[in-house]
Amino acid sequence: MEKRELVIIGAGPAGMTAAIYGRRAGLDVLVLEKGIPGGQINTTDEIENWPGVLMATGPELGEAFRKHAEKFNTEFRSTSVERLELREGTKVVVTDQGEIEAEAILLATGASFRKLGCPGEAELTGKGVSYCAVCDGAFFEDEVVAVIGGGNTAVEEAVYLTQFASKVYIIHRRDEFRADRAAIDHALSNPKIEPIYNSVVESIEGDGLVEKLVLKNVKSGETSDLDVAGVFVFVGTVPNDDAFKGFVKTTRGGWIDTNHRMETSVEGVFAAGDVREKFLRQVVTAAGDGAVAAMSAYGYISQQQHLRHKLLEPQEVFALFYSSIDEKHAHLAGEVENWMEGKDAHIVLIDAYKNAGVAQKMGVSELPALLHLRKGSEVARKKCQSLEDVTTQIG
Ligand code: NAP
Repeated sequence: MEKRELVIIGAGPAGMTAAIYGRRAGLDVLVLEKGIPGGQINTTDEIENWPGVLMATGPELGEAFRKHAEKFNTEFRSTSVERLELREGTKVVVTDQGEIEAEAILLATGASFRKLGCPGEAELTGKGVSYCAVCDGAFFEDEVVAVIGGGNTAVEEAVYLTQFASKVYIIHRRDEFRADRAAIDHALSNPKIEPIYNSVVESIEGDGLVEKLVLKNVKSGETSDLDVAGVFVFVGTVPNDDAFKGFVKTTRGGWIDTNHRMETSVEGVFAAGDVREKFLRQVVTAAGDGAVAAMSAYGYISQQQHLRHKLLEPQEVFALFYSSIDEKHAHLAGEVENWMEGKDAHIVLIDAYKNAGVAQKMGVSELPALLHLRKGSEVARKKCQSLEDVTTQIG
């Protein structure tokens, strides 16, 4: 099977920044992407909050990120990841072009716009149905359009659309918007904007292009037609997690739970960018996550390689596997460390809590355990509760 050090899934700002940092740290990096590198910014016409660049289109910035990663010899592969698997402590990325064993994996697949799922939405996407006001707003000069949703994106993009459209309806399923007060007041003070509350879209209709919406009032149950030339759907975003649903711990919305080092609940698996639970989903925060994740992955990979070197290469070695989150284990590890001072005897201490992969690969499930290895092969194993147990074993 192909073996790589760091496999990055997703070539958006997070994945490409991680590739740059990973390559500069000397890691072997493979980036897997099923679409065009750049990710969601490919659908953005104007980016004016990437520091140092006053204005760029999303595709321009995406291309610049890619060139930057390629300058450091990052390998990109166009492939779709089907699933991730853990096989006896080994992480395997299953793609439509075969399997890759990865020392560390970075999930940087981003997020997508949530769809309404009503009849007509898919058929008329790009023909009046849009998920990006900046990309498509200008096509609706002097036309009537509708925005669907009640969050900040919906009310703010509705205001943006008033530059072009003659009228903008905001259709929301409840009787009050979710957006913050300032954004709501700003939108509702605009004479071109008219809210329609307690209403959902039953269907989007038109002969080749959007012509009308069929709305249903959720209180009265009545349906009505609304003539519009465009529909902008802003009902939130969802993580792109098809390939790893259930593999790592997520929050209620399905966003990946990470700590400040971008570590997920699975050792050696990191997440960065919009796919993780976070406060602000922006290019600059995705890039920041990518840098942190790459350096965490570098630390993890170095540690794994160091442990393997200490365990598997010497002629003779003893290794004590313990768990740093168990008070008795941690105490025993401390005692062993003190005992070794000034002696020839050497015992490699391995925290199986932080290095579950190494423990799993060595088949260690009961802790604390002392393993005696000769040239990487196990010659003896003993469960040890005390310093005496350990010293008796090593003789
Ligand atoms: P959001 O806050 O999750 O709002 C989604 C809206 O869509 C909600 O009003 C929700 O209705 C509605 N909705 C969800 N599913 C629907 C469905 N199937 N049919 C009809 N309506 C549906 O998403 P967002 O507006 O994209 O914002 C995402 C995050 O980014 C938020 O934390 C937001 O505050 C933040 N953001 C901030 C700014 C800013 O600070 N300037 C700008 C944009 C976004 P309910 O309210 O009934 O659930």
